[in-house]
Amino acid sequence: MNNKLLVLGTMAYDAIETPFGKTGKILGGCATYIGLSASHFQTECGLISIIGSDFEEEHLNLLKSKNLDLGGVDQLEGEKTFFWSGKYHNDLNTRTTLETQLNVLTKFNPKVPENFKDASIVLLGNLDPNIQLEVLDQMHKKPELVIMDTMNFWIESYRDKLDELIGRVDVISINDEEARQITQKHSLVEAAQDLQAMGPKYVVIKKGEHGALLFNGNDIFCAPGLPLEEVFDPTGAGDSFIGGFAGYLVQQKKISFEAMKTAVIVGSALASFTVQEFGTSALEKMTFEQLVQRIQAFKSLTEFEIELI
Ligand code: AMP
Repeated sequence: MNNKLLVLGTMAYDAIETPFGKTGKILGGCATYIGLSASHFQTECGLISIIGSDFEEEHLNLLKSKNLDLGGVDQLEGEKTFFWSGKYHNDLNTRTTLETQLNVLTKFNPKVPENFKDASIVLLGNLDPNIQLEVLDQMHKKPELVIMDTMNFWIESYRDKLDELIGRVDVISINDEEARQITQKHSLVEAAQDLQAMGPKYVVIKKGEHGALLFNGNDIFCAPGLPLEEVFDPTGAGDSFIGGFAGYLVQQKKISFEAMKTAVIVGSALASFTVQEFGTSALEKMTFEQLVQRIQAFKSLTEFEIELI
């Protein structure tokens, strides 16, 4: 296993509204959050994405400064970057998409750079399943681990291709609402069983502020959500989670249920930083020491002793 992590996803501009305020156009996109999150680990991380000529130099420099390899990022002259705007409801766990402008995404022909065709872990971020499949098809051999994410936008209109993709991945990471939407099961345990029957050996179901569940056969691991005093903007929490999850696994060069339990905690800790400020700000500033402290907080939160007799 090598330490290469290949990430496919959007690099975007977002406009976000939460009960605490509203942003103008800010940096977003799942590849952006995943890359920033994974950059905290010892990995050679390459992004595959597409941007327009409006994508600011400052944002490219930010990603380069985190040692992210942008060889797979195409910039189209005279075109606009993918734009998404969303509004969070009072509980911050649910949101409504106000606008999705695909822009450059409609012209996206992803090209995996030669030096990433042997990446051990491929993370197919939330995107058109046709594009996710195209990336997988360009790999020299089957990667050690293929992880995928998706969202309602793609589940509603691309179901056949999505099912084909689910059949080819090892890990699917989605939120509770998406798991129910795909399987039509209310119980998350049943939903996870159905998802495993579709292909992936491992299923991660994110439950927003209530943590995440990891399923593998009959094994289940439950990670808590860290009770935070202030949550400003949940955008990118799922991407930061999975970026940390994959970054940790590739650094450890280990793929097992045991390693994934720790990876889920690491991902949850990263996501807990992301939600504390609008956009990518908190994730950009976070230090490795702060991350370690927060992982410790997760440990203390769930550690208890019990004597039954
Ligand atoms: P998350 O909050 O983890 O679901 O991810 C939020 C990010 O996903 C935002 O920064 C958006 O730019 C990006 N996004 C929103 N809609 C889509 C979509 N349909 N496909 C790909 N990325 C999207």
